Amino acid sequence: MTGTLTIAGLGPGDDALVTPEVSAALAAATDIVGYAPYVARVAPREGLTLHPSDNRVELQRANEALRLASEGHQVVVVSSGDPGVFAMASTVFEALEDQPQWQGIPIRVLPGVTAMLAAAARAGAPLGHDFCAINLSDNLKPWPVIEKRLRLAAEADFAIAMYNPRSASRPDGFGRALDILNEAGCGDRIVIFARAVTTPDEWIEAVRVRDAKPEMADMRTLVIVSNSATRRVGRWVYAPRQTR
Ligand code: SAH
Repeated sequence: MTGTLTIAGLGPGDDALVTPEVSAALAAATDIVGYAPYVARVAPREGLTLHPSDNRVELQRANEALRLASEGHQVVVVSSGDPGVFAMASTVFEALEDQPQWQGIPIRVLPGVTAMLAAAARAGAPLGHDFCAINLSDNLKPWPVIEKRLRLAAEADFAIAMYNPRSASRPDGFGRALDILNEAGCGDRIVIFARAVTTPDEWIEAVRVRDAKPEMADMRTLVIVSNSATRRVGRWVYAPRQTR
């Protein structure tokens, strides 16, 4: 049997947000490869081998998945949210570039509901106008690049979705990001903290940027800084469609 490689997004947490296309791919899989907490979201069954791995070994994981597919397995690489948003799809293509012998393997990328969209839906419509997404982790890019993008996004009045805002190994970057926004005159903007969206641990809070504290974010939090026109209506936060 010809092996295949499917790179799938499991959505933000709730099983109801796994797309039918991804469910079908999981049902047809012989092997699931991914970061251990994501692999744990796939129910074990006979004929299915789970290959959980650690956080920092993305490239090894991608190579393992390609090798299994080259040996005839039906492999699904799982990411949370969408696999193309700060996740495994790029890693698989990076591995593929270095391994020409695997370039004939049939590959599919199946989209998922990314954290930013699940978080925005909880708050209302903070991404209803122009927005951007920035990964605050400096594992794979220099911190000055992150600072520059934040400054320019603030200047351009984008709403800004921030992934990976803060972790035990990077406790200070998010506080610095808040300083940059305050220095750029964004203190009045609304910032939404959306933690563990669509899971039993969900927690959502919206405050002004000037009142935001670094401790309000952790690795399970998606942060949305609204644009300057964003308003509240009742408990909702929304970006008006029109820019004057
Ligand atoms: N591919 C994923 C993102 C992986 S980066 C996606 O498309 O959503 C990991 C970051 O995503 C976390 O640090 C956090 O910022 C965000 N994230 C993932 N799941 C989340 C959830 N359920 N609630 C809030 N943020 C989440």
